Amino acid sequence: MKNLLIILLFGMISCNTQNIQKTDYLQKTEAFANTIQQEEIKEMLYTYASDEFMGREAGSEHEHIATEYIRDFYKKLNIDAAPHTQDYYQTIPVGTYPRLTGKANNVVAYIPGTDKADEVVVLSAHLDHLGIKEGKIYNGADDDGSGTIAIMNIAKAFKQAIDKGYQPRRTLVFLHVTGEEKGLYGSKYYTDNPLFDLDKTIVNLNIDMIGRVDDEHQVKGIPNYLYLIGSDMLSDELKQISEEVNNQYYQMEFDYRYDAPDDPNRFYYRSDHYNFAKNNIPVIFYFNGTHADYHQDTDTPEKIDYRLLTQRTKLIFATAWTLANREDRPKLN
Ligand SMILES: [Zn+2]
Repeated sequence: MKNLLIILLFGMISCNTQNIQKTDYLQKTEAFANTIQQEEIKEMLYTYASDEFMGREAGSEHEHIATEYIRDFYKKLNIDAAPHTQDYYQTIPVGTYPRLTGKANNVVAYIPGTDKADEVVVLSAHLDHLGIKEGKIYNGADDDGSGTIAIMNIAKAFKQAIDKGYQPRRTLVFLHVTGEEKGLYGSKYYTDNPLFDLDKTIVNLNIDMIGRVDDEHQVKGIPNYLYLIGSDMLSDELKQISEEVNNQYYQMEFDYRYDAPDDPNRFYYRSDHYNFAKNNIPVIFYFNGTHADYHQDTDTPEKIDYRLLTQRTKLIFATAWTLANREDRPKLN
């Protein structure tokens, strides 16, 4: 009788877990997104874009300040290092790329999935910036402190979901790439030496500058916007999923102008997602547009709109969450 009761109990528990996996996940999207806190993002970005980080130049003697900060964050949260890294670091050997004079590191953490663990969602942002020039420190608060801190907070939200029993169905990879400013080196190195199977990488969500409002949207008075680039280049379904998430939870104005094939800015080719796209992996590049402080020593943390940065971070979390937990990966066109 006792045994029967135990068997019954076990049956109920495993049945319950199954139910969570199949139906309940997508209903939790907003709740877990809302664990992302503006105050924490602000505090972290003030640190990451402070003078103590010396402009985070890839391959410089100072780059370790940034990489250690990122690594310590994941360690403290008990989010594991990606396999085949050395304590979270994927090292680019000296001499691999012409403009990289010292060794440089990508920092890669991951959360394993459950029933679809072999499929991978990669979130990326570049950890490096322009360093110090003529005695001026280039803090790069928006570029790409904003994307870096966004990814760290997205990872934390996933971790909080796990602690509540919601481990994602697919594997999440948090990829902080080095050497973007010198030529997309970190993402090139990662995709040439992938830590997770590229064929099973279902999407790359790349974040490069999401903390500011560009002049045009300032003038128009529409701060609640975001440029999305490349979202239907390889998969119409990816764009559709991304829009559904936005319509349901955030109603942000998505601006697709840079997807125009004749756009002279060629942004699709200019940040780290491109190294994934050229491997036939669907991407979305999230971007706030350029501004007067872009690549100047005046790109500083007090100019960031933290309410907006937090909102955009939640949106990207919700998109990643949906892609990680839905039944099928986005179909290629
Ligand atoms: Zn950038």
